Amino acid sequence: DTIGDNFDATVARFGDRDALVERVTGRRWSYRELAADVEAVALGLLGLGVAKGDRVGIWAPNCAEWVLVQYATAKIGAVLVNINPAYRVHELEFVLNQSGVRTLVAAAAFKTSDYAGMIEQVRPDCPGLLDVLLLGGADWDALVAAGREGDPAGLAAVQGGLSADDPINIQYTSGTTGFPKGATLSHHNILNNGFFVGELCGYTEIDRVCLPVPFYHCFGMVMGNLGATSHGACVVIPAPAFEPKATLAAVQEERCTSLYGVPTMFIAELADEDFDGYDLSSLRTGIMAGSPCPVEVMKQVIERMGMREVTICYGMTETSPVSTQTRADDSIERRVATVGRVHPHVEVKIVDPETGLTVPRGNPGELCTRGYSVMLGYWAQPDKTAEAIDPARWMHTGDLAVMDADGYVSITGRIKDMVIRGGENIYPREIEEFLYTHPDVLDAQVIGVPDAKYGEELMAWVRLRPGAETLTAQAVREFCTGRLAHYKIPRYLHVVDEFPMTVTGKIRKVEMREKSVELLG
Ligand code: ATP
Ligand code: MG
Repeated sequence: DTIGDNFDATVARFGDRDALVERVTGRRWSYRELAADVEAVALGLLGLGVAKGDRVGIWAPNCAEWVLVQYATAKIGAVLVNINPAYRVHELEFVLNQSGVRTLVAAAAFKTSDYAGMIEQVRPDCPGLLDVLLLGGADWDALVAAGREGDPAGLAAVQGGLSADDPINIQYTSGTTGFPKGATLSHHNILNNGFFVGELCGYTEIDRVCLPVPFYHCFGMVMGNLGATSHGACVVIPAPAFEPKATLAAVQEERCTSLYGVPTMFIAELADEDFDGYDLSSLRTGIMAGSPCPVEVMKQVIERMGMREVTICYGMTETSPVSTQTRADDSIERRVATVGRVHPHVEVKIVDPETGLTVPRGNPGELCTRGYSVMLGYWAQPDKTAEAIDPARWMHTGDLAVMDADGYVSITGRIKDMVIRGGENIYPREIEEFLYTHPDVLDAQVIGVPDAKYGEELMAWVRLRPGAETLTAQAVREFCTGRLAHYKIPRYLHVVDEFPMTVTGKIRKVEMREKSVELLG
């Protein structure tokens, strides 16, 4: 199926059920109402001259219109280009030109971001950009109004001419390790992935999925929106951007059954001073993903948030995104400490990055994945595509992982984050997990810094729990001594309020390393 056909099937089956709730405005849609608005936007875009294959950019924090544009572009076969709401003029201009956006839908402003002003600034340098529609503005309203008058038969004809393998979406990677790359994805890629994520979460039309994760990223758009919609479940948007209280309140008041987040979001919710006052008893499941999911945090999500069936997903933008996921019936140890087993219809293998040969089970190596989920390629970057996807169609993820005898995968880090100290390979993840067990530590990250004697030395960055006064490198070393091998004990400690992060909530170790080098003089 194409995304549009699948959406129509959901509407036909679950027309009267809740489809979407936008908490900040209180607006809500049943599937039938959502379908009418999607159709209006789709016809409006056709009326503007947007054709199959044209790129339509969306630049906005989470809002209902994001969802309308997502399904409207899919119905007409336009390629949706997700633009990160944290971008500024330099990145905006790059993305608009790199992907060749012809029509841009954008929020006018949000908090300190003057999107309209930034668009005007770059416009002279973006010759391919023909239309700009600001949400809530006159042009957008006119487009929707015109769409309501449009001819649905015209839309059906366009939709009928689409193929599931057509490109439908360009998602730029998070930019955790370098400059973002535009993963080009088909209907088939992301619809199937969303569907199987929803299947493994056990979604049906009675589920209500709270999404504080950004829509511009695959976590929100695919695992969230497509995951819910393909099963007739309802999407709840707690706020335009992540806020712990708004998220907890949305779960309580909308009786959400599922909650998504990157680990740092769950950490913030659990640490919220009002946490105990929220009624979260409706929660059954949810997804933690995006970066390493600390065992301690997983345990608390199960015990204190009542998310007894919570799953962990592992994946990347380039693979639509999910490759492995824990299942509700896995043992509790595996559910908190692994990223589960391979997803339906996907292959995973762990290889020696040097030789490319599959390593014996239990040994670390680079995780590679193959199947329907592998992207079509990086948009207009054939060299980068060839570096990432080998001739046998295996996607090389750059992630280090171990697969046990039963097929459970653990992510041990990124190849780029591995520290080599005096010839020993050190996976920072293992030390981070250990530091979490210190009573004063709220969050911990470990990186390698250059060292004359050992090549690299370990530095821990920690955020302290509220109430904890201070922590010294000496105290941390004493805490580790006798419990971690000597070479894994961090030499340096840096206490911070926040880690440098991407908008997707990923910790930018590249930036931490640069700052650490400065700190050490
Ligand atoms: P860039 O490729 O631009 O550097 P990025 O890799 O962070 O950015 P994404 O595609 O958003 O961009 O993230 C995918 C990466 O996130 C994976 O390659 C992996 O390193 C990490 N990741 C995702 N899920 C998990 C998980 N459950 N456990 C550990 N790491 C994860
Ligand atoms: Mg990546």
